Amino acid sequence: MNRPLPEPDADSAPEADLRAARAQHITAQPDAGDPVARIVEVIARGERFLVTSHSRPDGDAVGSMLAMGMLLEQLGRRADLVTADRVPLVYRGLPRAGSIRSAMRVQEPYDAAILLECDGLERARLKGLENLFLINIDHHLSGRDFGHINWIDHRAASVGEMVNRLRKAAGGTLTQEMAVCLYTTLLTDTGGFCYGSTSASTFALAQELALAGADPIRIAQDIYFSTTTAKILLLGAALSTLQRDGRIAWLWLTHQDMVRTSAAEEDCEGIVNYAVCITGVEAAVFLRELPERRIRLSLRSKGRINVAAIAERLGGGGHANAAGCTVEGPLSRALEEILAEMRAVIGDYAASPS
Ligand code: 5GP
Ligand code: MN
Repeated sequence: MNRPLPEPDADSAPEADLRAARAQHITAQPDAGDPVARIVEVIARGERFLVTSHSRPDGDAVGSMLAMGMLLEQLGRRADLVTADRVPLVYRGLPRAGSIRSAMRVQEPYDAAILLECDGLERARLKGLENLFLINIDHHLSGRDFGHINWIDHRAASVGEMVNRLRKAAGGTLTQEMAVCLYTTLLTDTGGFCYGSTSASTFALAQELALAGADPIRIAQDIYFSTTTAKILLLGAALSTLQRDGRIAWLWLTHQDMVRTSAAEEDCEGIVNYAVCITGVEAAVFLRELPERRIRLSLRSKGRINVAAIAERLGGGGHANAAGCTVEGPLSRALEEILAEMRAVIGDYAASPS
């Protein structure tokens, strides 16, 4: 566990030439044909890959990066796992979680960068990606074709599910470590098999992963029953602000609340669910004041209401039932702005037939 990646060898000139030639050859290909087959082909031709995901990585980001790293290694390739923000505490017990390095810039000459769960290049918040051959694997509704190869599947319950499909296409073996990481992506992105794209195939995959050695009880306990005291105190502060107006509910935290409870940013994960879980509430927002006074919004909905569309209008993105964005402060103005957007959307849905 927590095995660090080996240090890269000094780059010999012929090797660098070879890599540049290979990257150029790859780049010359148009983005056409089956993206999975094309990704397998690029992996077969390359040697060294960067694997990254969005900033503030969640369970799907961390689990799918780790599984992708394991797959590449199994195929005899080198994989550097890098994210802009560090791995949240709750996922640091995942197999080889220590191999994910946090950095603001990448400089090494990779054959390709594999971006997981990023609905835009800027979501990775990593400098140096611009000049690389980009493989984009995503399942967001707001997913965009920014890569040289774009594989976007809105129906996938998690990007981990897509990594497992890639594994099969590439002839990789599902190891126990990989199964644990992939199960984590599935469990967290469906909110415990409650929402998102949860379907019969989600459970078929969960079975496949459990049979390969992922322990559903242990993983659920590590994620949902290993909460810090600070997180519960923070939740209390947020719940004390809870308000509801018909089918909309909201709650918030100030930066001062974060400081007072000694909470980390990742402790805000899941708070919005307490607002959307109320009977009769169809859309909810959690607002958090950032240290620099901008406001982070977490949006959730039940049923037909598409919160990704609202988030996109405010410069963010996400899924139909879970989305987010960052807007200008102060908190009162952000709340006014988002409630107006939500009321307009809810009104539209009320007016349209189901
Ligand atoms: P959360 O509310 O948990 O931060 O995010 C919910 C979903 O919305 C996630 O799938 C996440 O990727 C997406 N999301 C959150 N914030 C942003 C954002 O600022 N930009 C984009 N494009 N997506 C976001
Ligand atoms: Mn995801």
